[in-house]
Amino acid sequence: MVDDGHASCPFVTASGCSVYAGRPGACRTYPLGRGAFTTPDGKHHEMHVLLTEPHCKGFSQGAPQDISAWQKDQDLALYNAMNDELLAVLQHPRIKEGHQPEAREVEIFLSLYTLDTFRNLLLDATIALPISITDSERQQLATDDLVLLRLGIRWLNHVLSQH
Ligand code: SF4
Repeated sequence: MVDDGHASCPFVTASGCSVYAGRPGACRTYPLGRGAFTTPDGKHHEMHVLLTEPHCKGFSQGAPQDISAWQKDQDLALYNAMNDELLAVLQHPRIKEGHQPEAREVEIFLSLYTLDTFRNLLLDATIALPISITDSERQQLATDDLVLLRLGIRWLNHVLSQH
């Protein structure tokens, strides 16, 4: 966020979002907030809250929509699916036990939000990776962000399970 006293988004301009086609999942979800978790019996749960903030003009425009119509309209299926895959890290037993992530774990986690950095890390032949990567995955790394993201989640799970 921009340090302007309002924590403004660096991508907002006078004419709107400058990265609209690639805006993050949270922006697509707004004015909903989505929470998801998996219970010990393996069941997946999700819940939503509606944020009715006065600066959001969308409430006075268009027809009312239910949650599934809104998610479809905002093309959220893949964003939610990937967020749910990340739950394996966020709800890892060690995190639940109160483990404070170490610097290396934080570095890998943050790199999932800067995929080009993570791609370069994985493609650097001088770094010995702690997980095995198939030839197919290695070939797709250069161009497929989903393969990259899933590898990152796998890597983090592996690192968290080492202790
Ligand atoms: S939609 Fe999201 S990325 Fe775009 S300007 Fe708003 S907060 Fe920033």
